[in-house]
Amino acid sequence: MMDSYRPKWLNEVPTPSYVVEEQRLIHNLDILKGVQDRTGCHILLAQKAFSMFHFYPLISKYLKGTTASGLFEAKLAHEEFPGENHIFSPAYQDKDFSEILAICDHIVFNSINQLKKFAPLAKAAGRSYGLRINPEHSTQPEEHAIYDPCFGDSRLGTKLSELEQALNEDPADEFLYGISGLHFHTLCEQGAEPLAETLAAVENRFGKYFDKLEWLNFGGGHHISRDGYNIDLLENCIKNIQKKYRLKVYIEPGEAVALDAGFLVTTVLDIIEATEQNGRKSAIAILDTSAACHMPDVLEMPYRPPLMNSGEANEKAYTYTLAGPTCLAGDTIGIYSFDKPLAVGERLIFGDMAIYSMVKNNTFNGMPLPTICAVDSTGKVELVREFGYEDFKMRL
Ligand SMILES: *Cc1c(COP(=O)(O)O)cnc(C)c1O
Repeated sequence: MMDSYRPKWLNEVPTPSYVVEEQRLIHNLDILKGVQDRTGCHILLAQKAFSMFHFYPLISKYLKGTTASGLFEAKLAHEEFPGENHIFSPAYQDKDFSEILAICDHIVFNSINQLKKFAPLAKAAGRSYGLRINPEHSTQPEEHAIYDPCFGDSRLGTKLSELEQALNEDPADEFLYGISGLHFHTLCEQGAEPLAETLAAVENRFGKYFDKLEWLNFGGGHHISRDGYNIDLLENCIKNIQKKYRLKVYIEPGEAVALDAGFLVTTVLDIIEATEQNGRKSAIAILDTSAACHMPDVLEMPYRPPLMNSGEANEKAYTYTLAGPTCLAGDTIGIYSFDKPLAVGERLIFGDMAIYSMVKNNTFNGMPLPTICAVDSTGKVELVREFGYEDFKMRL
C-alpha cells in the first residue's frame, strides 16, 4: 500500500475517524468480481470483517451475497444487502432459529449434534444446509494458533472420523441428515498456495462424498486483493472442483473486500519528550485514538499498522512511540519516525483500518468511538455515523 498519502479530505473529518474510500473498495471489488465472472463461483462478503452497511448497496453490485457469524449479522444483511444470505455459527440457539430460517438461504452447522438438532427444521423450511468440516491440515505457523481452526483442540468443524461415525448411525436413505454442502475455513491472510494444499487435504479425506453434494464453501482468509496474490491458482482450484464434482463453489472473504480501503485519522494531543531507554531515544506522542479501543487487532494479532508519511523507528530524523490516551500501559500502537518533529494538533493517518476495526472497537475507559466517514468516488466526504456519550452509557 502507498505509504505517503495526504488525502484532500484530511481536514474535513473530525478525529478520531474511520474514513473509507469508495474508490479503494471498488478496486478490490473489481478483482473479486473478475474471479466470480471467470469461474462462476459465488463470492460472499464475510460481514464480521467489514459491516459498514453504508457500502452494502455498492458491494452487492459486485458480490453475490454475504455470510454471517450469527443472527445479528444475518439480519443486517437481510435489511441492507440484496443477495444471498449465508450463516455459520459454532452453535445456534433455539430462540434464534426460526428467525434465521426466515432470512437465511444457506445454514452451515458446526457439529453433528447441531446438524441433527436443526436439520429437520431447515429441511421443512426449504433451506440449503451443510456441515463445516475440519480438514485437519494446518497451513499456519504455530504462533498463529489463535487464528487456526485446524490447531489441536479446535472446536471449529467436524472431523472425518466424526462424520463417518454419524453416517453409520444415520439410518435414513438421504446423505447425512439431508445436507447439500460442506464448508471449510482454515486460512487467515493467506495466498492461493495454502488454499490449494488445503483443498487437496479436503479432497483426500472428504472427496468420496462429494457426489452427494451440491456445493462446497472454501471459507475466507484468502488475501485475493493483495498485490502478488496468485489469482490464476485460485481460479484453477475453483474450476477444478466445479468441473470434477459438479459442485457449486462459494468463497467468503472478509479482509479481501475492504483491504487497504480505509484509514483511521487521529490528532496528536501531547508529546512527551525523548528519554533514553535501553540505549534508544524515542519521544512519545499521545493521540486521540487508542490501540486497545479503536484498533484492537494491533494488540491482539499483534501487528504494527501502516502510518502514512512515516518510516520505521530511526529511519527518519524524529522517532516517536505513538500511544493511546487510556490507562493501559501497553496501549501503544507502534514506533514510527518522521522527517519533522510532531506537533500537538497535527493529524496522522493510519492505513488499512476498514477491516476488523469498527466491528471490534469498544469504549473501555469511556473512550469515544471514532466517527465513521465515507468518501465517494468524486471525493465528497459523508459523516455516516457519529458517536457520543450515550453510546458509552447505553451499553452499561
Ligand atoms: C473469519 C471468517 C471469514 C472471513 O475471513 P477473512 O480472513 O476476513 O477473509 C469467513 N468465513 C468464516 C467461517 C470465518 O470465520
